[in-house]
Amino acid sequence: MARVVVTGGGGFLGSHVCEALLARGDTVVCVDNFLTGRRDNLEVIEEHERFTLVVADVSAELPVDGAVDAVMHLACPASPPEYLRLPFETLDVSSLGTRRALDLARANGARFFLASTSEIYGDPLVHPQVESYWGNVNPNGPRSVYDEAKRFAETLTMAYHRYHGLDTRIVRIFNTYGPRLRPSDGRVVSNFLVQAMRGEPITIYGDGSQTRAFCYVDDEVRGLLALLDSDVVDPVNLGNPGEFTMVELAKIVLEITDSSSRLVYEALPTDDPTRRRPDITRANELLRWSPTIDLREGLRRTYDWYQQEAARGRL
Ligand code: UDP
Repeated sequence: MARVVVTGGGGFLGSHVCEALLARGDTVVCVDNFLTGRRDNLEVIEEHERFTLVVADVSAELPVDGAVDAVMHLACPASPPEYLRLPFETLDVSSLGTRRALDLARANGARFFLASTSEIYGDPLVHPQVESYWGNVNPNGPRSVYDEAKRFAETLTMAYHRYHGLDTRIVRIFNTYGPRLRPSDGRVVSNFLVQAMRGEPITIYGDGSQTRAFCYVDDEVRGLLALLDSDVVDPVNLGNPGEFTMVELAKIVLEITDSSSRLVYEALPTDDPTRRRPDITRANELLRWSPTIDLREGLRRTYDWYQQEAARGRL
């Protein structure tokens, strides 16, 4: 039973991580400034006796007192429209914020866990992506505020490991979805499900032939905690290898929502990766982890949540 600091604990993924940590008996200090996170995400755990919320911007301060066993640094805008709208906040939280989170871990002799991303592979020339691939990133394109910031965060983490002997973990998270993905988040799964639910056109960017591999949040969180508990210092991909084009995703969404929305085609964002799919051999072998929830099942569960939100007048 550990005391774990989770930066970005009010976000989509962070709130699920906090919940899973509490469920297994850990004590959680959630740090969030709710820039892209939501207080509503915490409503099921906010009153928990082993849960504390610290409202702070980790780029500026990380005011956590008392002993800490692990620091999980999840804070960062993660949706392309949001990190493009918040370029400096994204750069700061991944550089200054990562540094602060590393220093907190170091001061406590704690384990440090970095949420990195499949975006560090950029528009990948190696497919599926293995951890040994260095990536194909435009260093000054619009997406670089996220891609390069996360690459820098990996560099900083490994520098603390090498020079300070800090115990570190790095996960590369591939597209994750599920309940609490905000309707206005801007990512493809929330956009398509909400559009289908409202009978609005489904917006496909480009010709929709680009691919992504989508992991349901419960599978992802189980992997994150397995990595946290492991002794694996090298980066580990965690994602579902099932790969779909955006047109295929749109059709599955129409099918499970029983919607008659039509498909409309819009401009492809600059440097949008053509394809993406994790090679999860490392997670398989070292963590004994693999995802169990397929896309249709995960989308059904997520859609149920959006319907519940709508019934509560929150959508
Ligand atoms: N996308 C789309 N329609 C949308 C939102 C996104 O076709 O309404 C595409 C986007 O261009 C990308 C893919 O879906 O190719 C995944 O986008 P998302 O923003 O979810 O995540 P990314 O993997 O790009 O970070």
